[in-house]
Amino acid sequence: MTITPNSVVALTYKLHAINNGEKEFVEEADKSNPLVFLYGVGMMLPKFEENIEGLKQGDTIDFELVAADAYGEKDESAVAQLPADMFKESGIPPVGEILPLQDNQGNQFRARVVEVSPEAVVVDLNHPMAGQNLHFDIEILNVREATEEELSHGHAHGVDGHSGH
Ligand SMILES: [Zn+2]
Repeated sequence: MTITPNSVVALTYKLHAINNGEKEFVEEADKSNPLVFLYGVGMMLPKFEENIEGLKQGDTIDFELVAADAYGEKDESAVAQLPADMFKESGIPPVGEILPLQDNQGNQFRARVVEVSPEAVVVDLNHPMAGQNLHFDIEILNVREATEEELSHGHAHGVDGHSGH
């Protein structure tokens, strides 16, 4: 079958970020640990799904997503000053460290430390991949219909549909 909404897709990918024309390896999922997801329910970037729609087992594809279609352009004003008091117990983090934070609504996000002073830790709130064009090399390993249970949960249960969670 081909990839259509409500199918479960297993694929391998290699992800590179493109910076100033240079390809920089980011991450990959290989055959021993493929990416498995329910297609068409908004789990993946919309443009990512658009590029693989209609593919079938064994197909390969590579494509590029511009930053605006991936994790967005970088917002230079998206920085926050966290009072040093917040780090009394954990200690002041070094520049470059990724901090797991939570906003008032309970949404979790990651912020990268860009500056440290005795009074405050300045963090960059942009997604780590913001402002970068992404290049994907993909091989479709399997496409199947989602089970009733997967559809009711809104996510895939592994390659075969029976993995617990
Ligand atoms: Zn589930």
